[in-house]
Amino acid sequence: APSRQLQVRIRPLAREAVLVVGDDRSALIRVDESKRDLVANISHELKTPVGALQVLAETVQEAADEPEAVRHFAGRMLVESTRLGELVQQIIELGRLQSDDPLGDAAPVDIDEIVQTAAGRAREACQARRISFSIAGDEGLRVIGDRHQLRVALSNLVENAISYSDPGARVAVTVRDVDEDGDRWVDIAVTDNGIGIGEEDQERIFERFYRVDYARSRENGGTGLGLSIVKHVAVAHGGGIRLWSRPGRGSTFTMRLPALVDPVEHNDGTGHDDMV
Ligand code: ADP
Repeated sequence: APSRQLQVRIRPLAREAVLVVGDDRSALIRVDESKRDLVANISHELKTPVGALQVLAETVQEAADEPEAVRHFAGRMLVESTRLGELVQQIIELGRLQSDDPLGDAAPVDIDEIVQTAAGRAREACQARRISFSIAGDEGLRVIGDRHQLRVALSNLVENAISYSDPGARVAVTVRDVDEDGDRWVDIAVTDNGIGIGEEDQERIFERFYRVDYARSRENGGTGLGLSIVKHVAVAHGGGIRLWSRPGRGSTFTMRLPALVDPVEHNDGTGHDDMV
């Protein structure tokens, strides 16, 4: 019985969406997390991999004359230390995004290049999980921003789309040039037909360290910081992030960034160039 209602509710994307815009209106971007909370959160999150490493190191020490066991536990130490490294890297990233100068040196950035980089990074994971990956939409769009941060943000969305889908799923990145009441935006949407996210979690997943399913996140090598970074990158660029999702159906995360508009498009159409 719920299926008919579900279909009706799926279509009006805009009304269902959780929208975060740079200026204010949404609860999501209110500076919700104080620095003190950050320290408490981080300390807590570091305890797990550090504790695991301690136990594993002790085990290796005790098993010193059993080469098989040493190899096994050393392998697990490598996994945990890689996770720890990733977590520290993301904490540094987030720290910079929350500073007074989040963008550093802003410059024109080609969106095609950002999308291709994210696609390249995802290739192996897609092959391993038999996930088909596609890119569609408008080409040649540019924004002003930090190339590294934009790559990280889009890669986070693509990696999540892969991680939270089952083998054989489809992941698509779609780029759109949007004109809304004269404001020009670049919308970069990452769509999956994976496990989806319940309504009650849709706002919370943008909080740092929030996971719907801790075990699944950990199994995927997740840190719980990916979407928090995406949100901060979008807001730092004067944009926002929008989410549509249904459990069992999949998710679309749309990152909206102010477009870098070619000044030629803004002339008066007479063909005369007033600036000369
Ligand atoms: P993680 O490192 O756990 O992936 P994120 O901040 O990237 O952290 O995401 C937070 C949580 O949001 C994830 O743990 C997962 O529960 C949920 N999530 C993120 N992306 C998706 C997606 N595409 N489909 C379903 N759930 C998702």
